[in-house]
Amino acid sequence: MKYCKSCLQTDKRPNTKFDEFGICPACNYFESLKEVDWEERKRELQEIIAFGKQNNHSGYDCIIGVSGGKDSTRQALYVRNVLKMKPLLVCLAYPPEQITQRGADNISNLISLGFDCITIDPAPVIWKKLLKKGFQLFGNWAKSAELALFSSVPRLAIAYQISLIWWGENPALQLGDMGALGKTGSDGNNLKHLNTLAGGDITWLLSEEVKRNQILQYIYPSDEEMQRANLRIVYLGYYWKDWSLVNNANYSSLRGLDVRIDKPWEIGEPYGVTALDDNYVAFNQMIKYLKYGFGRTTDYMNEEIRIGRITREEAIKITEKFDGTCDDKFIEMFCNHIGITMQEFWKIVDKFVNKDLFEKNAEGKWVRKFKVGVDYEI
Ligand SMILES: [Zn+2]
Repeated sequence: MKYCKSCLQTDKRPNTKFDEFGICPACNYFESLKEVDWEERKRELQEIIAFGKQNNHSGYDCIIGVSGGKDSTRQALYVRNVLKMKPLLVCLAYPPEQITQRGADNISNLISLGFDCITIDPAPVIWKKLLKKGFQLFGNWAKSAELALFSSVPRLAIAYQISLIWWGENPALQLGDMGALGKTGSDGNNLKHLNTLAGGDITWLLSEEVKRNQILQYIYPSDEEMQRANLRIVYLGYYWKDWSLVNNANYSSLRGLDVRIDKPWEIGEPYGVTALDDNYVAFNQMIKYLKYGFGRTTDYMNEEIRIGRITREEAIKITEKFDGTCDDKFIEMFCNHIGITMQEFWKIVDKFVNKDLFEKNAEGKWVRKFKVGVDYEI
């Protein structure tokens, strides 16, 4: 396992490739921002705004997929107040058993800032079956949820005849998931090729119990449907000089966003500003860490290193402490929700652990064999 020479990204991130100097794509992208002609990007943005307004068939210029979290709150305000567009917000909500009170409060906060919002609520029983199946098959409960999240927004755009969809972060440039790379830095039409979406494949969702007509919100529109609707998905993050997890959180907190008060070791990250609407993401990040050797803290630290707010050495200390940690209470909530025991939970997780990177200690807990930030021979 190799580490990026500049940040703490490992080459285990799916779909990533370091350059010949051992630098990850996200660091290279960040470096390239220094050369960007922001006035040119502004002009590019004007063309996209015009496209949205020209294709306004329903009264809305564009759609923004929102959760009410730090990124979407900032995006919605920016699109309305700075770009002077009329957006329709679309929120794919977690079912009642899963959404946190904080998540519900945050989406209420966003709506009360003066937006029209449509909430999509997939049926909870099917949702639960798919969570369980994704967890058992891939060690990732969120696989079906992400399909619903990414598919329901373009589906609604087609239904409402709105051609422009704003998305936030470009996962290819800002995280290094090169599978999702589009024609230009703001082009999101390749979004379904993200690692977890696998081209919008839904075959694994289907079974005797779950039929296609029960999972309509999980089905990504076909390329033909997208073309017929003249759909254009654009990453707004590409046009922001100061897009970062922490900057977005600061901005949105000042406008009513409620953040977590959990301890860093309970949620596996030091800021408490992600996954505000759900408690299962914490242990999903722990599983990601056990699969690939990095979790949420690494993602945060990488950004902070690039921005220059922290050194690589300081970031290593924080990452060693918090990455991959998760409080048992969140795992228990999930086990109760999908009807398995903690033992069954760990039996499944154990299968997905990268045993080259982790070993079990005397207490039966997984511990890393590698040192954070140091290349590790496997
Ligand atoms: Zn890097």
